Amino acid sequence: MTADSTRPTSTSSTAIVNIASLVTNDPSLGDGTSLGLIQDAAVVIDGDRVSWVGESSKAPATDNRVDAAGRAAIPGFVDSHSHLVFAGDRTREFNARMSGRSYTAGGIRTTVAATRAAADDVLDANLVRYLDEALRQGTTTFETKSGYGLTVEDEARALRIAARHTEEVTFLGAHIVPPDFADDPAGYVGLVTGEMLDACAPHARWVDVFCEKGAFDGDQARRILTAGKAKGLTPRVHANQLSYGPGVQLAVELDAASADHCTHLTAEDVDALAGSATVATLLPGAEFSTRAEWPDARRLLDAGATVALSTDCNPGSSFTSSMPFCIALAVRDMGMTPDEAIWSATAGGAAALRRTDVGRITPGARADLALLDAPSHVHLAYRPGVPLVDAVWQRGVRRR
Ligand SMILES: [Zn+2]
Repeated sequence: MTADSTRPTSTSSTAIVNIASLVTNDPSLGDGTSLGLIQDAAVVIDGDRVSWVGESSKAPATDNRVDAAGRAAIPGFVDSHSHLVFAGDRTREFNARMSGRSYTAGGIRTTVAATRAAADDVLDANLVRYLDEALRQGTTTFETKSGYGLTVEDEARALRIAARHTEEVTFLGAHIVPPDFADDPAGYVGLVTGEMLDACAPHARWVDVFCEKGAFDGDQARRILTAGKAKGLTPRVHANQLSYGPGVQLAVELDAASADHCTHLTAEDVDALAGSATVATLLPGAEFSTRAEWPDARRLLDAGATVALSTDCNPGSSFTSSMPFCIALAVRDMGMTPDEAIWSATAGGAAALRRTDVGRITPGARADLALLDAPSHVHLAYRPGVPLVDAVWQRGVRRR
């Protein structure tokens, strides 16, 4: 959906005028807040880029004109954490969990078995289906991971398929220790840092580890992330989701782009994030779908950390592709203001991917934006569950 080079880009110019409220995420524009809000605004798109933003009455002449008729406009969402190369689903596991029963046969292994058994075109079609679903809800940039193959061939295959659709591809061979290595976790770490990394690195930008009790400990995670760095990949870490642990400190130590989940943080973890370039990516769909304790966004923001919001879309613990849903949860239950949540779902996600060309509507940025059937971005939290995304431009092309 984002990086498909075969996707047509527009060569003409288009002005979107009469935008009631425009979120630019450029503090030098508009009202001077971090959202850079402009009222009665217009955006001009030239090819695949934004070429002008300002007051609607001052919009320059263009080839085409779209009347937003008092709708709000926001940057397309940047979903910096998803797991979308998989087959099958886990309805029974979710149903059992929500019915108060434990479900011992489920878990990531169920998806690993279904994914290994699926043909390439099935995995690709499944991925496209969820990307289209996300696009309809305003997502124009997404990251996605391997992690349901857990063999050299299946991990490399997942990354090749992902790379057809996005440049933000993450090697997550260290998702769990697969059943075939249950008695030899050290052997699996050796595979991940050796032959599997060699096969996967050419198809990925990022390397990730699930650093958690029952998955990979701090020493194993350090080995895997360091090996990935040596192959040119940049770390990101599943950190401190289910319990306190070394993940956040390791992410900061290795200058990871992002520490993801951050649900169980000590004061030292919060300070480390606040004093680093590592973004704290919060994934409230996971806490929602597992009835778990919410991450404390307020604490991170007050300490000065950069916070991103993302879906963690995956068939087990967070089967939502909806950034508006995550915004509503973050505002309702995690102490974020509506302004902070929209920033984190756009510019914050871009920061978590170390991108400056997306997550903002400023001259030179990629022309990725959504029109809302509402007068303000605040409605994304104020009207939870309502499909407010009314039109989406991606790389300058209207996609819906
Ligand atoms: Zn995840």
